[in-house]
Amino acid sequence: MGKEPGSGNIVAEGCTHKGCKTKPARFGFCPEHYEQFKFGLIKKTGEPVPDYDKKFEQYAAYKARRGVQKAA
Ligand SMILES: [Zn+2]
Repeated sequence: MGKEPGSGNIVAEGCTHKGCKTKPARFGFCPEHYEQFKFGLIKKTGEPVPDYDKKFEQYAAYKARRGVQKAA
């Protein structure tokens, strides 16, 4: 809901990831989902990749190693 079908452009309204209402920071993603995008968990369209679950484990481990950073 919310987005017009067929509009390819990303409007800086909310994160591209479905259901995420966080204000986007980069590439239309919020910081959290931008990280996931960089990690290859989600596509540029905001859709999860087919092996999202598997990759998310690696991503979670990466985040845990790095520690939770809440820097603005
Ligand atoms: Zn998001």
